[in-house]
Amino acid sequence: MDAFTAGQAVAWIGAAADAVAEGKERLTELDAAIGDGDHGANMDRGLGAAREAVAALDAAGPGEVLVKTGMTLISKVGGASGPLYGSFFRTTGKNLEGAEPGLAELAAALRAGLEAVQRMGAAQPGDKTMVDALSPAVTVLEQAAEKGTPLTEAARDAAGAAYDGAQATIPLQARKGRASYLGERSIGHEDPGAASAVLIFRSLAEATAD
Ligand code: ADP
Ligand code: MG
Ligand code: MG
Repeated sequence: MDAFTAGQAVAWIGAAADAVAEGKERLTELDAAIGDGDHGANMDRGLGAAREAVAALDAAGPGEVLVKTGMTLISKVGGASGPLYGSFFRTTGKNLEGAEPGLAELAAALRAGLEAVQRMGAAQPGDKTMVDALSPAVTVLEQAAEKGTPLTEAARDAAGAAYDGAQATIPLQARKGRASYLGERSIGHEDPGAASAVLIFRSLAEATAD
């Protein structure tokens, strides 16, 4: 049936590591414009290490895979994005019980992960951060679960919502993170963390495609 398995979780992290490796330069450029130019390297190092860590696991369910991913990001990535994405994955994983949770369980776990990010970073939607892409993506998954949309299609729609959310950060002035030091000069650039969140949700769509 329409379940999210440990194998799909491993595939998700692998696809995200690939996508970030491929998009590394672009993430670096975005962060060079409004930050310190290390977001591509941070995410590449973190997800590359997470891919290896989860490949070595013999996980009973997807939650375990995501907890491992989060712990790895926390230990391997400094800066803002390591702890933030680290708690996103770790909290999502901790809230994802069983061997084969369905879309409703996955959406609820991701909501908990997003809440952990917001607790840690105190960012609201519109502050020009990763939350601007993560939040609409999670909302779309919740709505899809209510409608009974298949996981694959739901993940594709979530990736689209993340993309729209990331594009919508361009005209915003940053209110959190390094970019906020620039004040009005942060306007006119896509937030790098929102851009990496798009890659992460596209990878989920890839990993759950049938
Ligand atoms: P650093 O800014 O420490 O160099 P990165 O460049 O890896 O870390 O990550 C920057 C990204 O982290 C930003 O583009 C933004 O999306 C995200 N970010 C920064 N601060 C916060 C925060 N308080 N809440 C949510 N996301 C944040
Ligand atoms: Mg940076
Ligand atoms: Mg940095």
